[in-house]
Amino acid sequence: MTDDKIKVLYIAGSGRSGTTLLARLLGELDGFVNVGEAARYLCDGNMQARQAAKHVPCGCGRPIFECPFWSEKVRLMPAELSHEGARMVRTRRFPSLLMASRASRVPMQYRAILSALVGIYREIARETNCRVIVDSSKHPANALLLSLAPEIDLHVLHVVRSPRRVVASWSKKKAYLVAQPARKIIALWWADNLLSEALKIKARSYRRVRYEDFVKDPGKCVQQAAADVVENAPPVSFINNAEATVRRQHTLAGNPDKLEVGKIRIADGNDTLAGALKWFVNLSTFPLLLRYHYWPGSRGGGSERSSPQLLKTNNSVSGGQPVA
Ligand SMILES: [Zn+2]
Repeated sequence: MTDDKIKVLYIAGSGRSGTTLLARLLGELDGFVNVGEAARYLCDGNMQARQAAKHVPCGCGRPIFECPFWSEKVRLMPAELSHEGARMVRTRRFPSLLMASRASRVPMQYRAILSALVGIYREIARETNCRVIVDSSKHPANALLLSLAPEIDLHVLHVVRSPRRVVASWSKKKAYLVAQPARKIIALWWADNLLSEALKIKARSYRRVRYEDFVKDPGKCVQQAAADVVENAPPVSFINNAEATVRRQHTLAGNPDKLEVGKIRIADGNDTLAGALKWFVNLSTFPLLLRYHYWPGSRGGGSERSSPQLLKTNNSVSGGQPVA
């Protein structure tokens, strides 16, 4: 990285919204390194235990403690801190984190865990000589924790997917991801998306994109997201319409699709709902369905971008600028 700050492109949103795929494509860009759900995994001892029990590997296919990229770095986060993080850094603690973000200094309770996390990011930046670290941890609380660190230049890419597709996707087991009931997924979809929008006020830049729009033109979407973070965004020659060529990446947690390499298809899948469940999802999410243009019959919304911190420091820059 060219300056002292570590540029982090954080992919926020709800599970099964395409965040793992988007992070993989961004990680193929020259100067970008995708670390998967590192911010969440490293700060959540409970998640580490669950993933270990299911033998969830690194994106390279090896167990985390045998991966040449992660085996030493994960030890930089002491177990007691990751267990503390499981309690402190979670959705229900979002208000506390938001209050903490208004303080002039990092509050005492977050200093040790944040210092360890920044140390791991700094080691990744040093070792890979990357310009940007892509982290697809999804959870807004982990992004808010990162925003407390003066060493981090936080950019947020918020991915939204139709709740009908998300609920349908979670209704099926997928490798080490178990099926989840619709009510739980709807509650998470609400919380994850509303709180991801709240990150606008803390991030250097914020862009919201619908997964359905991303699959229509993935190359353009990846290039726009990269251009939010760096000048002269690198080319996306590995993406050819709805197909991309991807390599192995050292990613923590995430969707099992992360293990596929070579040519991959970029599509919206076959996840659909019908009948009463479809209308239950529509009615229980309708305010956000309208906001994100998912109400039956509504047209696509494109992506939206804002740079709140730039707005604060430079009045000539306008926020909330719709793109495409
Ligand atoms: Zn690995």
